[in-house]
Amino acid sequence: VSIRECSVNDLIKSVLSFSAAMLRNQKVRVELLLDNTLSQILADTEKLKQVFVNIIVNAAEAMPDGGKLEIITKETDSIVIISFSDTGEGIPAEEKLRIFDPFYTTKKTGTGLGLSISYQSVKLHGGSIDVESDLGRGSTFIISLPVIPKLC
Ligand code: ADP
Ligand code: MG
Repeated sequence: VSIRECSVNDLIKSVLSFSAAMLRNQKVRVELLLDNTLSQILADTEKLKQVFVNIIVNAAEAMPDGGKLEIITKETDSIVIISFSDTGEGIPAEEKLRIFDPFYTTKKTGTGLGLSISYQSVKLHGGSIDVESDLGRGSTFIISLPVIPKLC
């Protein structure tokens, strides 16, 4: 791992800029609510960007007819919290426990690896990843990252 000081807001903007064409094609409207007083955090930027890509691609895939993706950043008690809310199909309660398992997928050509790798990456930073979902209305993925990582 290569850990350096970085801005979560900048990482999100960078991922969104190279996902812009994909999001436009999928008719996904992005709403950004980034807290510009956020602390810089110590993190592996490549790993974090991959986590954000995985979640953004999943959100787009959950909204085949388009929709809204809202990304919010905030900070409390030296923990940066990033939430990604989509207006997609949602996740049934009984699936919520399994979506982070390797190879768990509900897609014809899915690998089921995106969320399990994301879970490991976030854990590596001493953080956590959670999901809230309303079936038929959408899902929210919430990532918490300590400003100073507790490396494991
Ligand atoms: P894959 O995308 O290859 O299926 P992931 O690990 O990224 O693998 O996701 C696992 C499963 O979690 C998906 O197949 C899907 O069932 C569910 N999932 C993930 N993100 C969302 C989302 N935003 N909305 C609805 N379901 C989701
Ligand atoms: Mg995926």
